[in-house]
Amino acid sequence: MRQAILGRRILSVTLDKTDFIDDPAALEQHLPGRQIEAVERYGKFMLLRLSAVNEEIRATSNGDAAQASLLVHLGMTGRISPIPAGLPLEKHTHVCLLLDDGRELRYTDARRFGRIAYLTKTLLAEELTGFGADPLEVSKEEFANRICGRRARIKALLLDQGVLRGVGNIYADESLWRARIHPARLGAKLSKKETEILRRALQDILRKAIALRGSSISDFLDASGEPGEYQRHHRVYGREGKRCYRCRVAIRRAIVAGRSSYFCPRCQPSPRSFAALPLPGKNRRKAKRRGAERAGKSPSNIGKS
Ligand SMILES: [Zn+2]
Repeated sequence: MRQAILGRRILSVTLDKTDFIDDPAALEQHLPGRQIEAVERYGKFMLLRLSAVNEEIRATSNGDAAQASLLVHLGMTGRISPIPAGLPLEKHTHVCLLLDDGRELRYTDARRFGRIAYLTKTLLAEELTGFGADPLEVSKEEFANRICGRRARIKALLLDQGVLRGVGNIYADESLWRARIHPARLGAKLSKKETEILRRALQDILRKAIALRGSSISDFLDASGEPGEYQRHHRVYGREGKRCYRCRVAIRRAIVAGRSSYFCPRCQPSPRSFAALPLPGKNRRKAKRRGAERAGKSPSNIGKS
């Protein structure tokens, strides 16, 4: 996005459905005339930093002429990209910002779980309170402090935006698998060493995923309309019943923190009395057969058969 739109000025705003926009009238009123001065990421959303309104249009801007920001959260199915203004609108296009280079910054969102908000300096400050540390910048000590003192499950802590900002379901599962930590373990029960292994796994995975422009598991596309590539590197997410890349045991699924959580029952030992969901029929039969094959080959069974 930064490469695509930095420095462009917004000329006009066209809105379709607006139920995911905080204050649609504020967009129409305050965006035209402003230049996009920075494109930043904060947790799971992006912030377009907007210039103050210039002199000619200050008179019509209703007093709100200072620098401001546009928050864009893609939710489940949101997509934002600059497109030549003459091209036909894609289905579910709800926001079009005409730019000064003849392109339109278009936001499409089939399910409208995303969010767009025009934020003054005061609203932005309110918005940013209560967020935890950035997972790519958090220090060893701070990460351990945020996890080890908590009686919540580690998966819930990773997803809690007040603990860390920006970690979602896929990257939580991938980093827990890499660190060999079961998603249902309690933060307070992790050793200092385990939290440090987890922090490094999380950072490695996020950096690689960002370099590969994210994971396209349903319809995510980046600013140039291209799908991400990190889904090819998923080791555990979405792989229920398939073999673990490390130990070949079938990956299992459980609901932790209200979310589907994928893990390897051998590499990520579960806390006591925690049950995974039964494998779906087809995978269960496969896993059983594999288990039987393995048992048949093991030396302890020689002579018994
Ligand atoms: Zn394994």
